[in-house]
Amino acid sequence: MKIKKFGGTSVGSPEKMKNLLRIIQTGEKQIVVLSAVAGTTNSLVEISQAYLAGDKRLAKQLTDTLFETYQRFVDELFSTEEGRKNGTDLINYHFSIIGSFSTDLFTPVEEKVILAQGELLSTTLYHFYLTEQGVRSVLLPALDFMKIDDDNEPMVEYLATHLKPLLDGKPDHSLFITQGYICRNFFGETDNLRRGGSDYTASLIGAAVEAEEVQIWTDIDGMHNNDPRIVKGTTPIAQLSFDEAAELAYFGAKILHPQSVFPAQKYKIPVRLLNTMDPSAPGTLISNTSERGKIKSIAAKDGITSIKIQSSRMLLAYGFLRKVFEVFERYKTPIDMITTSEVAVSVTIDDRRYLTEILKELEVFGTVDSISDQSIICVVGDFSYQSHGFSSRVFEALKHLSIRMISYGASNCNISLVVDTSDKTEALRSLHNRLF
Ligand code: ASP
Ligand code: MG
Repeated sequence: MKIKKFGGTSVGSPEKMKNLLRIIQTGEKQIVVLSAVAGTTNSLVEISQAYLAGDKRLAKQLTDTLFETYQRFVDELFSTEEGRKNGTDLINYHFSIIGSFSTDLFTPVEEKVILAQGELLSTTLYHFYLTEQGVRSVLLPALDFMKIDDDNEPMVEYLATHLKPLLDGKPDHSLFITQGYICRNFFGETDNLRRGGSDYTASLIGAAVEAEEVQIWTDIDGMHNNDPRIVKGTTPIAQLSFDEAAELAYFGAKILHPQSVFPAQKYKIPVRLLNTMDPSAPGTLISNTSERGKIKSIAAKDGITSIKIQSSRMLLAYGFLRKVFEVFERYKTPIDMITTSEVAVSVTIDDRRYLTEILKELEVFGTVDSISDQSIICVVGDFSYQSHGFSSRVFEALKHLSIRMISYGASNCNISLVVDTSDKTEALRSLHNRLF
């Protein structure tokens, strides 16, 4: 069994939807996971915000505009009277749900129902299209098997026991279609795996059915070895280990939802990143193998704030770091990078919502400095203890720039540095020239 996930742009127009046929008509057993049509989830977020703000007029106006795009979509997607009628009935039904909240109380529970309509629309439209084309497929309702627990963690066991009977019930079918992103929560309400969560759906399903492979289809040819918007001559990375992919997914490589790496890693399911515009290109394979003696990629993350706490009380003391970290914990603010010396500790955060409060509480411990507009530069590859020479090349490449923090040794696969965001472009280019 293969899992093939197509993102919003891959189903972003009727023409693109039609083009997927070449990729899925292979006869092999597969579950196709679809995102909402590109732009839809953003529109649904705006509609929900209008409802939450009590602005029913705006909600209606936004809903009508989105409805019109779906009317055109249906017109172009289907070629028969019957297909168009099914498509029209479908969009009428889903937009009546979206419109139904204009008279009721609107809370985050209703918001999640609205957000779910995008994937419900795209998958059912595609299923109807396949039927019109004479291609047999089974539509699997994700809300019947995808579930998160009371910590919002996906339940893989539950997923496996609820999905398998649905697949076994259709032994003579090979093509299954389901919604990415949406799920039920602990209370049985409609919920979601957060923005970009369709990748996560695909990986969770892959783990649950012990798939041969999970394929994530987008419109670029895999993960690149540097940011193609900034550096010329980047190339797709042929192979990454799960750990390397997890680092890169966090560091700005928007191509893969960071959490989606973990279920595949745990259940040892290879993940392949592929390009719908060039289906025969090899893309990027993410698997258990970590290649020795290679630098794989350079990535950066902006919007970083670094905070330094200096205190003589830290000298030879225990429990000091715990107290510092507890401050961040109280404000639910994740720390990304840490460096320490005997009398000082520096950390970085990217969520500045509680920065003022955090700084105030940290002042109890000593002198506190914070600086914003920083970027983390991350070089991913073989930085294991046994490997020699890569770190010196990294520093050689950055010798003309000011480095605020350096983190090395936490994992075998990366080295991270903090620089002023104004130096980021130069850092990425210089590292690229030196390392590749
Ligand atoms: N449609 C959802 C989003 O836009 C999920 C996804 O595309 O992965 O966030
Ligand atoms: Mg995505």
